[in-house]
Amino acid sequence: MALRFYNTLTLQLQPFAPASDNTVRMYTCGPTVYDFAHIGNFRTFVFYDLLRRWLRASGFKLDHVMNITDVDDKIIRNAVAQGKSLAEYSAIYTQAFFDDSKLLRLEIPEHVARATEHIDQMADAIEKLGEKGFTYDTDGSVYYRIANFPEYGKLSHNDFSGMKAGARVDVDEYEKADARDFVLWKAPKANEPFWETKVGPGRPGWHIECSVMAIQYLGDTLDLHGGGIDLVFPHHENEIAQSEALTGKPFARFWVHAEFLTVEGQKMSKSLGNFFTLRDILAKGHPPEAVRYLLASVPYRKSLNFKFSELKTAETSIDRLRNYKLRLETGKFGAGVNEQLVARTAEAVKAFREAMDEDLNTAEALASVFEYIRETNTAMDSGAFLAGNVESATGLLQLFDSVFEVLEVTRASDALSDEQVEEMITKRTQAKKARDFKLADSLRDELTAKGIILEDTKDGVRWKRK
Ligand code: AMP
Ligand code: ZN
Repeated sequence: MALRFYNTLTLQLQPFAPASDNTVRMYTCGPTVYDFAHIGNFRTFVFYDLLRRWLRASGFKLDHVMNITDVDDKIIRNAVAQGKSLAEYSAIYTQAFFDDSKLLRLEIPEHVARATEHIDQMADAIEKLGEKGFTYDTDGSVYYRIANFPEYGKLSHNDFSGMKAGARVDVDEYEKADARDFVLWKAPKANEPFWETKVGPGRPGWHIECSVMAIQYLGDTLDLHGGGIDLVFPHHENEIAQSEALTGKPFARFWVHAEFLTVEGQKMSKSLGNFFTLRDILAKGHPPEAVRYLLASVPYRKSLNFKFSELKTAETSIDRLRNYKLRLETGKFGAGVNEQLVARTAEAVKAFREAMDEDLNTAEALASVFEYIRETNTAMDSGAFLAGNVESATGLLQLFDSVFEVLEVTRASDALSDEQVEEMITKRTQAKKARDFKLADSLRDELTAKGIILEDTKDGVRWKRK
């Protein structure tokens, strides 16, 4: 079965492959760096990460651009309030975004494009749109004339034919309900930063940055464009209107959108005040892997109702996976291969792949792994699981972790290395042999204090990180 994605443009599940040379040219809308991102934002960013990893596991190369919106109304408002320059202010939250992304093990796209580093290219595009008759100027600002783009509405599947021609909106926050001519270039206001460009002094609107940076790095037609579901209208509709008016070609072949993370049924958002940042959650003692696991475990087109109890469940699931890995690494199994189990492993790998291929159905992919773990744990207990089965079972875990990446424990900066742990365990074993139980106990206590758990099994000492 081939990889399929649900395409918002066609409202259908469609087989996906890049248009040329096995490389997926993809663009995803990145953060607006006016504050710390909340875990609702990170649901969408984890979705991008899963997308990347599964496209790669499907044999494709990636050329992925994500923007950093580092100029907008909220950033300017906050920077002014704190007496900081725009660059100073946005640098703080850009760095915070990358720090959080690292903790969540998100891969960094091939190109991270900052809006403020592409201002001249945006002015070029706006000028070109003007030459083609898609813009008009009012008081130093430039607007896009939607009436000249008859296909407007094709992504959000709205019929905007009744819209009022000439009604416009010039802020970065948009009403969902009605379509209006949107601002491409904003005239400077008092105390606001601005750039001198060929379309006059001012700053770009939000939508133009994505069109310009996508086309600059990836060409006229992208294989795939992604974002959160709230971006379908108007942001992505506007990106299409700008890009297709500029190039005369389809802007993206596939549009994929992540549903919301909600709290008690409502979208998590800064404006509702019902949000948690990653930092809030880590401060409560939850490991970042649990957040990653929870955000990844619900298929991206289903809304995810966030509860702290679900983070606990995620931790338990991760523990089961890690314990299983440890058992594979340290268990003593009988010689030979159980062919039936070899077949069972192949079946689990197939089920995992099929689930991910079907529009990244992570819930089913996880179910196939846990079912396999349950069955093979039983086989280990009964002695049916043999030494020759370890390799393929490990292969399944590796496939799982190439996507979910939660098996490795996030270590504190002062954590012991594996080698240091092994060394202390050897010392402890020697102390026990020499009947120096005091030293043996103190070594165990020291390890416990550093988050290392020892288990004395019939096969020797096993250890893991807490
Ligand atoms: P922003 O930083 O506001 O530009 O948003 C960054 C990304 O987070 C966008 O793709 C949004 O669609 C997405 N987003 C915002 N709120 C949520 C939410 N509650 N659940 C999922 N994605 C969200
Ligand atoms: Zn965008």
